Amino acid sequence: MAKPRVLVVAGTHGNEINGPWLLEQWASHPALIDSCGCEVETITGNPGAQADGRRYRDRDLNRSFRPDLLECAKDNPEQADQEMRRALALLEAFGPHGQTPCDCVLDLHSTTAAMGNCMVVYGRRPADLALAALVQARLGLPVYLHEADAAQQGFLVERWPLGLVLEVGPVPQNVRRHDIVEQTRLGLQACLSALAAVIDGSARYPGQLVVHRHLGSMDLPREHDGGASALIHPQFQNSDWAPLRKGDPMFITADGTTINFEGPDGAVPVFINEAAYAEKAIAFSLTQRECWPLSPDWDKGLRALLGVA
Ligand SMILES: [Zn+2]
Repeated sequence: MAKPRVLVVAGTHGNEINGPWLLEQWASHPALIDSCGCEVETITGNPGAQADGRRYRDRDLNRSFRPDLLECAKDNPEQADQEMRRALALLEAFGPHGQTPCDCVLDLHSTTAAMGNCMVVYGRRPADLALAALVQARLGLPVYLHEADAAQQGFLVERWPLGLVLEVGPVPQNVRRHDIVEQTRLGLQACLSALAAVIDGSARYPGQLVVHRHLGSMDLPREHDGGASALIHPQFQNSDWAPLRKGDPMFITADGTTINFEGPDGAVPVFINEAAYAEKAIAFSLTQRECWPLSPDWDKGLRALLGVA
């Protein structure tokens, strides 16, 4: 019987410390997570940044898997920064053509935004959608479908044929919490169980996959010098996943002037006031909730990747 080779990455962002701790604990307490017959490799994504307690050293590792950056790291390593070299090293070790090739990658993250737990899927690869549907059926996790954003590219999971991000929160950067570790554990367990179910033929798909499709991101209002001239409105703060209506309060200035949302009606905000996105000029992102009927191609794609007849 085929054994899926799964790479579990934590600490891709050095100041997200719950996933790495879970993997350390798993190494010394193997019963913590049932690998369900998967051959699992675990790795810290960005150990240098983790040692510093920072998200990254030179650039965001989870934007460093762009083909041009990887090529530069390979051809001109002296010109490449630390994360470019790290991205290449991870691929050379565990990528589909690496020394210990893995079919699937699960990348464990945390968020400071009050959005609870979700999966992030990049693009519309059939196998990713199949795995997300199986996990959504088990845990009810929302799926944030990230696609078509020229400003945000080069995500780690895109370089493996199958990959999901688990985003757990809310938790401040560099803070460990039992509930966050436990939710990360449950999410990882559900992914491994779903892969095993595909292998042994017991996978049961839901009728549909509910996705929140990325529409774009909004920055805070800015002064001429680039400084923020308003804050997230208190009524908007912590309202991740709640559909917006035109005219809803969005930002507020120091003198109390409210800036309202101008549409589109029904857009669903996520990552409101996420600490890590301030530097990316993202105050929140907007998504559209869509229900996609299950396509037989998704299961076919996942089974083909896992070598199931
Ligand atoms: Zn992260």
